Amino acid sequence: MACTNADGYGMFDGPWRSRLTHRIAWEMHNGSIPDGVLVLHKCDTPSCVRVDHLFLGTDADNARDRDRKRRRILKLTPEKADEIRKLLASTTLTQTEIAHRFGVSPALVSNINGGTMWSPAKWRQENPSNGRKKRRSPSFVKSAK
Ligand SMILES: [Zn+2]
Repeated sequence: MACTNADGYGMFDGPWRSRLTHRIAWEMHNGSIPDGVLVLHKCDTPSCVRVDHLFLGTDADNARDRDRKRRRILKLTPEKADEIRKLLASTTLTQTEIAHRFGVSPALVSNINGGTMWSPAKWRQENPSNGRKKRRSPSFVKSAK
């Protein structure tokens, strides 16, 4: 497979190539990346090279970020899900592009598209207090007592 050249980057082919593309994009805009630091995606799209979607982090940040994204998915409101659904039905945007727009993962948009998630009726059924009380976080997001 690919062999490392003198400067450590570039001249790769194969699976490493896509991994490096966003690192290169970051370096072109922000300068070099310290050793051991990862370039992470806010948008969960490995092939994405939009510099405003990239940020630097460590392995631990990466794990925290995954956790945060999971919460963001839970915080998507039925109204937003409806907007996404409408967009899916009325435009030629891809799921990935719509995910970018809403700042959610493409997997979530795909779930909404398939109707497996965020049916507003189902959501209200499962959250009967919604609308009367202030919206509560799902219990498994609440911090442990
Ligand atoms: Zn992106």
